[in-house]
Amino acid sequence: MTNPYPTTNFIAFKDETLFSIAARACMLSAYPSASARDELLNSRNRQMDSFFPAYVPELAEATSISKDLLIHEHSILDFFKPFVPKKIYDEIYLNMLEGATKNIHSRLSLVANHLPLHVELRYCKICVAMDQVEVGCKYWHRQHQLPGTMVCVKHQIPLSTCSRSRKTLSLPPSEDFESISNYCSTLSLDFSQACDQILNGKIDLDFNPQFLKATYLKALHKKGFACSSLRIKQNKLRCSLCTYWEELMDDKLIEAIFKKKKTTTYPVNLLYSIKSIHHPIKHILIILFLFENLTNFLESYKRGVNPNNNPVLQTTPPKERKDPINILKKQILEMLSTGSGLRKVARTLRTSIHFVKQTALQNQVEIDRRPSKIFNQERRSIWRKLHMGRSTQELAKEFEVSVGAIEKILNTHPILIELRKKIRFFEKRTTERESLLKYINHHRTALRNEVRLNCNKAYIWLFKNDSAWLYEHLPPAIPRTARYNRSKLPIL
Ligand SMILES: [Zn+2]
Repeated sequence: MTNPYPTTNFIAFKDETLFSIAARACMLSAYPSASARDELLNSRNRQMDSFFPAYVPELAEATSISKDLLIHEHSILDFFKPFVPKKIYDEIYLNMLEGATKNIHSRLSLVANHLPLHVELRYCKICVAMDQVEVGCKYWHRQHQLPGTMVCVKHQIPLSTCSRSRKTLSLPPSEDFESISNYCSTLSLDFSQACDQILNGKIDLDFNPQFLKATYLKALHKKGFACSSLRIKQNKLRCSLCTYWEELMDDKLIEAIFKKKKTTTYPVNLLYSIKSIHHPIKHILIILFLFENLTNFLESYKRGVNPNNNPVLQTTPPKERKDPINILKKQILEMLSTGSGLRKVARTLRTSIHFVKQTALQNQVEIDRRPSKIFNQERRSIWRKLHMGRSTQELAKEFEVSVGAIEKILNTHPILIELRKKIRFFEKRTTERESLLKYINHHRTALRNEVRLNCNKAYIWLFKNDSAWLYEHLPPAIPRTARYNRSKLPIL
């Protein structure tokens, strides 16, 4: 059967959702029946309007739009990016590329957050009318579907809603201008704008959980929601936050954050379990409440990353206030007195060699200094061993000189640095390839997804650095027609 989809002329519109692209692609196809849709999008038993649909590979094939573009420009994955550890974000991105989206909600802790995920589809009546004039058809906008969003940021009017259509593909209903409400509160507009800015990369950094916590605490302290020992006044904060966002409680998601029994710990749980993944909405509600907008928040966070500028980071309860520098110096002296070397002390106590050396000198403790000068006859030998990829630490030990002295030789040969990078790359590649092959050879019937789950580290490294080899050696992709019937698969 030939592909009846518009593979060459199909254009995805700005900010169009994956669901909308799928709907239009099907409507433009030569055979827009449900069975043709199931065949080409492999959509049988799949939730068509999911935030993370499983049909990205098929949609890319049907429309000739790259999978990467579909995910970054047409899904809402990047809305979660700032508040999810990079490793998990990368894995979810890979899942979407491969259409293995079954566990994404639990990976993002959306299940654990006990919040409603898909309540309704939203659209702006002016956008619907304008889109028909400008591009010739209606489509769903990503911004309108963002969790908790109730306003079109472009036209600043409330969004209209219609029920979601789990199994069918649809486009927004036609509307007339006369029934358009033009009232939209500043607060709901601010909230929707913040969600839209996050989706479009306004927060382009990976938050350090401790600094994020410090940023929140500093603002809470400033606004009287935390006392000088940084204990949070929980009731006061929760009541104020509830009152502040009262007018947005019409949204079921926001209402659930404040009123569901299992989430009554909000917002304090954002601070006490800072390393857990929380729904971005929970962060946005507290950020706008404390900082008014994302710009103020980001400035405060960036200032806080420098501990000298952050009094909150330095304010610790009296019990923990013992001078950490003195404790560290004491530990250094104890280790040196038992014969440990500078490097070992620095590594064990996670401090710099320079600091260990200074502490020893200040306390008249003798340290075993390695010579930093190397004679000519040794230079050649060190150069040769560096050429073979030996580590600077190993060579420092072997020639009984400092690592700095070895690095000095290395830095005089820029080509050698490049060569060593390549050697390390090839070594790493060999290790990861062997690890993957070992699993595949021991599990001859394993599916691609099983290989990925069981060799996660090797799989991700090879995907990023050696994808051609990876796809050559992975088990063949399951034919679409057999994806949900593993018993029919041939045994390899
Ligand atoms: Zn609009």
